[in-house]
Amino acid sequence: MRQSQLFTKTIKNIPAEEKSVNAQFLIKGGFIDKVMSGVYTFLPLGWRVINKIENIVREEINFIGGQEVSMPALQPKENWELTNRWDNFDALIKVEIGEDSKFSLGPTHEEIVTPLVKKFASSYKDLPVYVYQIQTKFRNEARPKSGLLRGREFIMKDLYSFHTSEEDLDKYYTRAEAAYEKIYKRLNLGGITYKTFASGGAFSKYSHEYQTVSPNGEDTIYICDKCRIAVNKELIESEEGGGSKCPECGNKDLKEEKAIEVGNIFKLKTKFTECFNYKYADEDGKLKPVIMGCYGIGISRLMGALVEVFHDDKGIIWPEAVAPFRAHLLILGDDKAVAKKAEVLYNKLLDNGIEVLFDDREESAGVKFADADLIGIPYRLVISPKTLDKGSVELKKRDQERMELVKISEILKLIK
Ligand code: ATP
Ligand code: MG
Repeated sequence: MRQSQLFTKTIKNIPAEEKSVNAQFLIKGGFIDKVMSGVYTFLPLGWRVINKIENIVREEINFIGGQEVSMPALQPKENWELTNRWDNFDALIKVEIGEDSKFSLGPTHEEIVTPLVKKFASSYKDLPVYVYQIQTKFRNEARPKSGLLRGREFIMKDLYSFHTSEEDLDKYYTRAEAAYEKIYKRLNLGGITYKTFASGGAFSKYSHEYQTVSPNGEDTIYICDKCRIAVNKELIESEEGGGSKCPECGNKDLKEEKAIEVGNIFKLKTKFTECFNYKYADEDGKLKPVIMGCYGIGISRLMGALVEVFHDDKGIIWPEAVAPFRAHLLILGDDKAVAKKAEVLYNKLLDNGIEVLFDDREESAGVKFADADLIGIPYRLVISPKTLDKGSVELKKRDQERMELVKISEILKLIK
């Protein structure tokens, strides 16, 4: 894409109340635009990142059998009354249309997915079922002030599984854990994201959160380096007897860190299937309760978390897997021969399937370099009269200081 054609620009002045690192860089870089507290537009650059994150998540959830759907944001009040959450779900946003029609804007989708699957899977032969979506959620979070980390409107991947037995749920839960490990690894967050034991509520002893270590995270976790798992502080405080120890090996030497909850998995068991009277017929035709699990990943929160983790004082340093483009081609000066060469190179990169942002704007070298650092594309290619004299372009990786002159014929090999 030609940067001269991008309708957004990098900006200098951002709303004063945007204090979080992720919001600052994302707004300055032209990835998101703030509409109101906790509500943002994803701009072309930002939407490309969201799509990349989504596709990684989609591939791994498809791999464990997930079937993708898209459920509505507008949900009937009756369903929320059946689960007793119309008045008890803290952040539920309610809308009224006319005198007596009330709805919620979905903060989560148990109220829709449970009656949905009930319509189709009534026999043991129909189960298990794994359904997921990547969709916009609404929650009336109090004073959201952490950019994409906590939105009133945000993107989530939510997967729901339906089983004939707890053993079958347990088996799938393990597969979901493996999928989550792969997802965070592909996002370059593997080394700093911990499966974290959190309180499970009334239905199981624990739920599991996936927590990415970051100084601006809202949560506090205690990490066991031996097991590579963690415990949420809230859990420790609610445990009888208190005291932090690893739930797997008993180790008491845990490391305290701030962290961002980037996903969680939950054994719901019969919590929702009971509300919708969802039973299946077993081999003998006997009706039994359907057992359920749910598995969330905060897609837009992950985008914020990635910026919190991968940046320096100049801007974002996107991991290659989610960067909006792979290469940022900068042309310096207004030399005709350079411009011609740059066009050829731009097209060659595109022909070879490399996503390029081509900075063909009439801007100074200083502005172009500063924007490139802010936007954070992994490979920066600079073409100027100086480099062209040597038949080369200058290649610099965003996460390294080193620059090298590379023959134009060699570039593909180096960045492919
Ligand atoms: P939190 O404790 O952070 O409020 P939660 O326990 O309410 O999260 P879930 O309802 O299980 O989270 O949602 C699944 C995932 O969606 C979370 O793990 C998180 O990554 C993401 N998420 C939850 N609330 C928000 C929000 N307000 N903005 C952005 N992402 C969110
Ligand atoms: Mg919440």
